[in-house]
This record gives sequence, structure tokens and C-alpha cells, in this order.
Amino acid sequence: MLNNPIEYIHGVSTLRGDMLRKELKIFTFNDLLNYFPLRHVDKTKVDIIDELNYNNEYAQVAGKITDMEIMGEKRGRRLVAHLQDDAGGEIELVWFQGINWIQKALQVGHRYLVFGKLSFFMNKPQIAHPEIETFTEQKATGKNFLEPIYSSTEKLKARGLNGRVMGKFTYALLQLITEKDLPENLPESIIIKYKFISRFDAYRHIHFPATEKHFQHAVRRLKFEELFFAQLRLGLIKSARHRFSKGWVFDKVGELFNTFYTKYLPFELTGAQKRVLKEIRKDAGSGKQMSRLLQGDVGSGKTIVALMMMLIAADNGFQSVLMAPTEILAQQHYNSITELLKDMPVCVKMLSGSSKTKQRREVLKLCEDGSLNILIGTHAVIEDKVIFKNLGFAIIDEQHKFGVAQRSQLWKKNTIPPHVLVMTATPIPRTLALTAYGDLDYSVMDELPPGRQPINTVHRFENKRPQVMDFIKEEIANGRQAFVIYPLIEESSKMDYENLMKGYEEVKSFFPEPKYWISMVHGKMDAVQKETNMQRFVNKETQIMVSTTVIEVGVNVPNATVMVIESAEKFGLSQLHQLRGRVGRGAEKSFCILLTGSKISNDARERLKIMVATNDGFKIAEKDLEIRGPGDIEGTQQSGLLNFKLANIVHDKVILEAAREVAQNILENDPDMNVAENLPVKTYLNQQKGKTAWSKIS
Ligand code: ADP
Ligand code: MG
Repeated sequence: MLNNPIEYIHGVSTLRGDMLRKELKIFTFNDLLNYFPLRHVDKTKVDIIDELNYNNEYAQVAGKITDMEIMGEKRGRRLVAHLQDDAGGEIELVWFQGINWIQKALQVGHRYLVFGKLSFFMNKPQIAHPEIETFTEQKATGKNFLEPIYSSTEKLKARGLNGRVMGKFTYALLQLITEKDLPENLPESIIIKYKFISRFDAYRHIHFPATEKHFQHAVRRLKFEELFFAQLRLGLIKSARHRFSKGWVFDKVGELFNTFYTKYLPFELTGAQKRVLKEIRKDAGSGKQMSRLLQGDVGSGKTIVALMMMLIAADNGFQSVLMAPTEILAQQHYNSITELLKDMPVCVKMLSGSSKTKQRREVLKLCEDGSLNILIGTHAVIEDKVIFKNLGFAIIDEQHKFGVAQRSQLWKKNTIPPHVLVMTATPIPRTLALTAYGDLDYSVMDELPPGRQPINTVHRFENKRPQVMDFIKEEIANGRQAFVIYPLIEESSKMDYENLMKGYEEVKSFFPEPKYWISMVHGKMDAVQKETNMQRFVNKETQIMVSTTVIEVGVNVPNATVMVIESAEKFGLSQLHQLRGRVGRGAEKSFCILLTGSKISNDARERLKIMVATNDGFKIAEKDLEIRGPGDIEGTQQSGLLNFKLANIVHDKVILEAAREVAQNILENDPDMNVAENLPVKTYLNQQKGKTAWSKIS
């Protein structure tokens, strides 16, 4: 039944059917059923005209038309009628369009039922362009449901398919379907526990509720369904991996790991680092393939965790790869890892888009013959040409820059897929992470290495620039370095470039050579040039780094203590937090200065306020969500995982958590859903297979 084409609905002609398919992607009964109304209008009672007041947004009245005449000229030309109800109140009805047609259709002395948006003119009630129909006694008590209004498109409206006509179709559709067409898909005990209405009722009441309360019950039930099945599906992918996948076994903690740990690890690991290492080791030793998300705030020390796992992989005879989103970042990882391992017999190489042919050939050879232990690079490392002898472990750093497709390419690199660790520095709140990445296991590093001082963040207006520059001079005099970051406005890379050059000249005017030296890095430079400029800054040959956001993630220069962000109002919160994370990496007190013009929007002001108030990435992420909504969370957008129709992950947290608990319970106790009570769930899931974006993940 629900798969019937929409033409089977009364009033939907082939032409209209085509329009609905093209404009709204409504093909079947089911599509229409799931096309939910934008809002409802209340025509459940007939108002008494004399009782209407400014609080009534809409009004429905019934009575006799007492007079009707065309008034005004040209643009002011309008049809004005007066309608009197039985209680003697009078209301004015006005039309500016379709005047002739309406004048013919209405008759003075006849009774009508009228609905529309109410306004008052000189204290008298008035409705412009009302809906109007002949009055009958059955209509005297109003409709027995709230009338749904659907969103429509200009093209549909031009064909007479406006938001109200859509309602006629859904009304007709609901007459056709029965309880059998919408069988229950939740376990009975859950329905009882949460006092949910039936699925059939939920669909009826979301379209045609008798009261606002009915509507809310319907929405609550359908939101729960949405969140429950989303989490259950991702959870099933995860549980299938835990139960059925095969993974390489890293059961040894060997020579390399132990030597590094006792002799070369430059600091004591934090509690969080130790815990996460343990979690990863447990997974990698289990014989199942690991796919794990590691969330940690900027500077929490994810790299060392990654390195130590790669050493364990090597101890067990496996190769590892570490992928970074940019050349600069890959190079940095390479530099710091080769430095840490310089006295150890571990073969580490780097591969990126700009690697020279000869060097590339050599790296590829080492990969293939197995003498290479660790390969670091950009996504060049997962190209088909790169063949590993025995890849066992893959780490994706700052994952939001990688697409899902790139991740899956890793699968092909060995007979059994390698263990995968996805590291992200864009923290998102736990509940959200568990939903968005429900197919991955989850680790979090919620502790910074000791001795870090919070970064002192201030907001300054443009006119304070000289003072800001003086401050940088003081820091440089104390042997420190500074970043000055310009925004990237993607529409025009030429403008960005000019913007940056202007900024560079301006900075230079405050910091003249040869007393000061400035590095500059931007997206248009080739990799070698970028790297050279970066290295000069790292080596303290320059004191200031002027850059666009290419340094956004990962870059580590512990001696830099000042981060100036130009036009800070143009950045999103998580980006600001990332940028700020480039300082405060050493023991010295660090500063972040957010520069803006004097006129900024309220949203921007709010963002800056949050940045000034806290250094905690998780708190910032939460605020970011509140301001921007979940659709904008990096990484989740392209996957479409968080685009729920009804539910909103931020505002429906209570339902989200309830749904999560129920899904979790099934996953733990009855993952095959063989218990009678869970059969409705299983049946529904099987029916949906292949119909949703979800099926692409599994
Ligand atoms: P992120 O999590 O942002 O990738 P990094 O791995 O780049 O952080 O680490 C940031 C800095 O903290 C590096 O300079 C690193 O050497 C240092 N670091 C990491 N772990 C510790 C620790 N346990 N104690 C002290 N410093 C640490
Ligand atoms: Mg990092």
C-alpha cells in the first residue's frame, strides 16, 4: 500500500504527480505520508466577532454579508465587504486581487464561513484575502482537527498546488490507509514505558491533530523513532564488527615500544593518554578489526599516543600509516616523529603530493618490500600505487578533512583491513559524538599535559591595533614568537591573497627588517615554499608568522605565545578554537587577540564572548552547536547522518538519550533481535533496507 504511486490518491493527476515528484521528491504514498506539515491553523471553533482582539493572530467567523463594493482606483482598487455574525459583530473583508471573480462568487445576504489573518484598522477587525466558503449548519462548530499547512514551491504554487492543497492530498491519503499499513515498529514495553501513541495515530495526528496536544504526542513519538533507528543502525554496524570482523592481532608489547617508553619518551604520559593507549591496545589485541574515534582537545597530546601504537604495530610485525590533512601538518608529524625516534631502529618515511619522483619511488619500494615501518603523509599515502607488504594500523589525524570515501580506501590495503584510529581535534559533545560516529568505538582525552597555562584571550577593536603590535614587540623582546592570521573568504582567492598581502605589508610597517623577520604562508604557495617559510619560523629565524588559515590544525610551535586573529568575526567558533590552539603549547603564558572592526553582528559578538570566557574545547563545541545547530558540525555534514527530519540533536537531547538507551539495550542483549518483543523492530529495519542513506554505510 505505502509503495503505491501518488497518482492513486484522489485529486492527484498525472501532471500533478509529475510536479510532486520533480519538485518535492514525493513518489509514493509513503513519501507523502512523511512529508510533514510546516504548521497548523486552528479552525476548530468559530469566533465571535466582538470578542476578537489584538491577541488573535487568525480568526474564523461566520455570518451574513451585508454589503459589498469596489473602492479606490488603480493600485488602491479593492473589493470591500462587510460580514455580520449572529451576535451582531461586524468585520471587514478586503480583496486586492481577483476582484471581479470574487464579486461574482459572493452574494449579499448569504451566509459564509470565513478564515484568515486578522488585523485591525482604526480599531475595527479586518481580514484581507480570507478563505471563504458557504456556511452550513455542520460547519457551525468548526473543524474537528487543526488544518495542516505544507511547504510548497513557487512552481507548485503556480499550478495551484499550494500548502493547503497538499493538505487535501494527505487527507485523502489518510482515508486510504489503515492500521495494518503502519504496523508498530517499537517494542511493546517501550511504548508503555514512554506512553507513546501508536505509529498509526502518530502519522494521523502529525498531519491532522485534533488539538495541539495530539500534535505534540505525535511529534514526540516520531522523533523517538528517528533517533532510535539512527542509533540502532550505526550500533548494528559496530556490533557486527565486534562479533564477526577479523582483525590483526597485536598481542606483543615488544622491544621497540619498551625501549621508547623507558629511554626516549620525553615526558610522563597523562592519565588520559595512558587510559586511551590501554583502550586501543585492548581492541588491537582482540582479533577483531578496530575502528576507533579518538577525541581530544587541541594540545591534549594525541600524536604521542598515535606514535606509541605504531611502535606496537611494528613490534608485532606490521606497518603503519599516519595520514594528515595538509602537507604542512604531515611534514610536522614527520619531523617530530623522526626526532623522537632518531636513536631507534625504526624506518619512518614521508610521502606527499609534492614528493620528488626519485624519492617517491624509493618510499614505494620500502613500503612494498616491508622494510618501512611507518609512513607519514597526506592522502597520497592511500593512493592505489602505494602497496604495503603488511599494513596493520592506519591513523587519520584531524579526520574532518577526510571524506568517508577516503577512509574506506584503507580497507583495500591488506587482506584483512588494518586497524583504524581516527583522531579529531574538533571536539563535539559526547552524546553527539556517540550518535554521529555510532559505528566507531569512542575514546576521549579530556586532560591536558601538566603545566599548561590557560591562554589569555581578549577581544580588541581595530583602533587598538598599535597597542596590540606594541604588545607583540614586548613578547618578541622576551624571545617569543607570534602568529597573525587572516581569514579565507573562499569566493575569491584573489581577494584573499590581496587581503593577506595588505596585512603582510601592514605588519611589516610595525616590524621593519632587519630588526624583525616575518614568515608568510598561504594556500597559493607551493609545498616547498610553504615548508621553507614554516621551518624558518619553527627554527626561530623569523619572529612573526603571517598566514591564512592553512595552519589551522595541528601545527606545533611551542615558542609562539601570541596569536592575533584578524577579522575574527568572520571565523566560526571551532575554527577560532583551533587557531588559538596553536599557542599555549609551551610552558610560557600565551595570548590570543581577536581583532575585529567596530561593527559586528550579534552572533559574532556571542562567539567572541565565548572564546574570551573559556579555553575548554568541549564547552565551546556545545555552545557552537547551540548557535549553529547540528547541521554544521564538521564531518557530519557530508555524511548526512545528523540531518534528521523532525528531531534536533541539540534541543531533543532528552529523547535522544532515551532512544540511545533503548537501542543500546537491544544491541547488548539481543543484537539479532530474536526475542519476540524485538521482532517489530527487526521487521521494520529489514523493510527499510536500501531505502535510506544509511544503507550506504553498512
Ligand atoms: P594534539 O592533541 O593537539 O595533536 P599534540 O600531540 O600535538 O597535541 O601535542 C601537543 C604538545 O604537547 C606537543 O608539544 C607534545 O610534545 C606535548 N605533549 C604531549 N603529551 C605530553 C605529556 N604527557 N606531557 C607533556 N607534554 C606533552
Ligand atoms: Mg594533532
